[in-house]
Amino acid sequence: MIPYGRQDIGQDEIQAVTEALTSDFLTTGPKVAEFEEAVAAYCGAPYGVAVCNGTAALHAAMHALGIGPGDEVVVPPLTFAATANCVLYQGGTPVFADVDPDTLLLDPDKAEAAVTPRTKAIIGVDYAGQPCDWDALRAVADRHGLALVADACHALGAEYKGRRVGTLADMSVFSFHPVKHITTGEGGMIVTGDSALAERMRRFRSHGITATPEQRESAGTWYYEMTELGFNYRITDIQCALGLAQLKRLDGFLARRREVAARYDAAFSRLPAVSPLGCGGEVSHAYHLYVVRVDFQSLGTDRKRLFKDLREAGVGTNVHYIPVHLHPYCRHRLGTGPGDCPAAEEAYERILSLPMFPAMTDRDVEDVIKAVKRLAG
Ligand SMILES: *Cc1c(COP(=O)(O)O)cnc(C)c1O
Repeated sequence: MIPYGRQDIGQDEIQAVTEALTSDFLTTGPKVAEFEEAVAAYCGAPYGVAVCNGTAALHAAMHALGIGPGDEVVVPPLTFAATANCVLYQGGTPVFADVDPDTLLLDPDKAEAAVTPRTKAIIGVDYAGQPCDWDALRAVADRHGLALVADACHALGAEYKGRRVGTLADMSVFSFHPVKHITTGEGGMIVTGDSALAERMRRFRSHGITATPEQRESAGTWYYEMTELGFNYRITDIQCALGLAQLKRLDGFLARRREVAARYDAAFSRLPAVSPLGCGGEVSHAYHLYVVRVDFQSLGTDRKRLFKDLREAGVGTNVHYIPVHLHPYCRHRLGTGPGDCPAAEEAYERILSLPMFPAMTDRDVEDVIKAVKRLAG
């Protein structure tokens, strides 16, 4: 079975983790700062704050902005639930604004229409690895005095108008879950150009305590202060050692993802019932996912059956995502429901994510193409 995504761990990663295990620090040691600096430098951003997963990174970003009860944050519905949940963790209200029907990226006009006097921020999601229209989102944010956050969990290494993801919003959030571009098992990071926000997130990931153990040791003092309520959202040195070794391979991973996408594009251009998503032009796509829209009606089938038939042909697929505003929790708590975001809801009925990961062999790619042609040709 070819899965829709999976990690690629080599000998260098095993070596790096082994070294971390026998070093003086298992957590909160030198590898954490090294990993933060390396990812931030890769993005071209001044600061990186590493935490235990991408969801914690989103939460830290919302906390750093001071999101609280009564505050609204505009988010797209076609994303992982964490994009909206991070607002709820802070007692704020996520407000769903619809996506562009062609790219499935947050529509800047819809985002602006969702702004109210209570809105504090917009979170754009670089869905599937394609950057949002960040210039347009920035213009909306500036017009209304809002913070701009990138949920860039799909887009490490992507570019927009020659600028790398990580420099396009006030804060950009990455995940290092095994299906993402590089992995630390579980892990996440926020990169930012704002030192005050970075400082606030560093404190938040460790109980809201002001002095780190190293600072305390170098000051030769036992004293520390808890100045606000934080969490234990720390990442380990073991994980960061893995992340550093993975980061060295990122450009190769991205090149391979783009190669696989080009082959899919060419093969499916001759299938009228299978269409890749639109791509906005001035971007370099990072292809976390390869999403196609399927015309099930013209094929005389439905997604359940195609999903099952592909699985029987050894091809694992997935659906990204069930629109967040349709989940029972959101319906109850936020009063959202069908009809709120028609473009996302319509897309949801037709999308399927095909296998996309750097360790895919040419044979794997051919097998996926053959199965799709046979079942949806
Ligand atoms: C993966 C992902 C997250 C959450 O990351 P975790 O590391 O799994 O917590 C958030 N948003 C999006 C869009 C993601 O794909």
